[in-house]
Amino acid sequence: MDTVIVLLTRDLRVHDHPALAEACARARRVVPLFVLDTAIRGHHRQGFLVEALTDLRSSLRDLGGDLVVRRGDPVAEAVRLATELPASAIWTSEDVSVYARRRQRRLAEACEAHRLEFRLFPGVTVVPAGELSPTGGDHYRVFTPYWRAWSSARHRPVVEPPSLVTLPEGIDPGELPAQRKPHGNLRGGETLARRRLDLWLKLCLADYAEGHDTLSEDQTSMLSPYLRFGCVSPSEVAAQAMGHPGAEDFVRQLCWRDFYYQVALAFPDLPRRDYRPRRMDWNDDEEAAQAWREGMTGVPIVDAGMRQLLAEGWMHNRARLIVGSFLTKRLMIHWRVGGEHFADLLLDGDIPNNWGNWQWVAGTGNDTRPNRVLNPLRQAHRFDPDGAYVRHYIPELAALPAPLIHEPWKASPKVPGYPPPLVPSWTMDR
Ligand code: FAD
Repeated sequence: MDTVIVLLTRDLRVHDHPALAEACARARRVVPLFVLDTAIRGHHRQGFLVEALTDLRSSLRDLGGDLVVRRGDPVAEAVRLATELPASAIWTSEDVSVYARRRQRRLAEACEAHRLEFRLFPGVTVVPAGELSPTGGDHYRVFTPYWRAWSSARHRPVVEPPSLVTLPEGIDPGELPAQRKPHGNLRGGETLARRRLDLWLKLCLADYAEGHDTLSEDQTSMLSPYLRFGCVSPSEVAAQAMGHPGAEDFVRQLCWRDFYYQVALAFPDLPRRDYRPRRMDWNDDEEAAQAWREGMTGVPIVDAGMRQLLAEGWMHNRARLIVGSFLTKRLMIHWRVGGEHFADLLLDGDIPNNWGNWQWVAGTGNDTRPNRVLNPLRQAHRFDPDGAYVRHYIPELAALPAPLIHEPWKASPKVPGYPPPLVPSWTMDR
């Protein structure tokens, strides 16, 4: 083959990139192309994306190539470039959201019209969504049987990065947007993703099973934003983890990620409609919703999580469960309100995982115990026993002693600047 365009989307890496590896092995010239469109939502994610693209450009330059950047509609720009060069093929990694599938369909049609080869490659999940299905169903609705099938399925082997990327001569690489002021603690890019993976597997994986729910210490990998943008491949994370003792609990979480991808593929309305319809009397209380968004509900463990999200674009999984349960099962506010706020702010915000988890928390999704309600006080005492997480994110409460830090309504005198709880305090113990 002469020239292949690899249209990059959520696969911003050179390691374990099946489309890029095959293009570099088979074609004389390869154009790694990223098209900046307006569809990427969320201020934090935009900064992370620019960091990831900058890092990828540098890696591709080290391999003799470059990252070619265009602006506009990815389909129109990829096809325009293919006709200008000319290229004979456009390849891309397969994704499952409605937006991604529409793009893939349009790209396939445009390639057909312009006599270009179009191919979809794996790489966004460990096991491609839709590859596993139970007898008599099109997808797994319950996690445990999916985990069993996923664990015994053949996993795609990790592929080597290309040793050389040869661009067509004279191609204009295009400009990346300026880097934004960093936000939160996580910077984008494959280099940092690989460093984090390496260190975390060596130093922290062994304690994961025991400590992953502890709020005050970061004992989880924080790889989710890197997985969201494909700065590291989920297959490589799983494969490397499996070589370490005690990896099962962690790999199981990666399987949850794949689980929601196959749910989103089978149920594209996941962000909009109940997956399992329930008759719920949702409360249309914008004032309470806004207090929740701002971390001003008066329930410290909830407010700490919400303020972590505002400040860092990230929130610990246990806190996500607590704030989600509080919104949907105590304030009785619709899961879509929570999901929209998370989608705006989370660095790792993606459609299958965000909406799949929100529906799980609200009891309209894949939870086999849809009526479970998390007790915020019990959760706080169990996962933030000395109140370090709350103290860190809610400075108004920092001086309270441990017994009161999770129940400031019992403090006398009242803590100035911190609101009373939005729900009666006596209901919180249930
Ligand atoms: P680790 O504990 O180190 O786990 C490793 C990886 O496994 C994660 O990076 C992630 O890719 C995957 N994983 C872990 N837990 C889950 C889970 N419950 N569901 C799916 N995958 C999981 N995760 C997202 O990636 N994007 C989202 O938009 C998102 N929204 C969420 C919304 C709610 C209401 C809840 C309760 C959870 C949400 N999660 C989401 C799942 C989970 O909270 C994050 O994946 C996790 O906190 C990321 O931290 P980590 O990388 O340190 O995870």
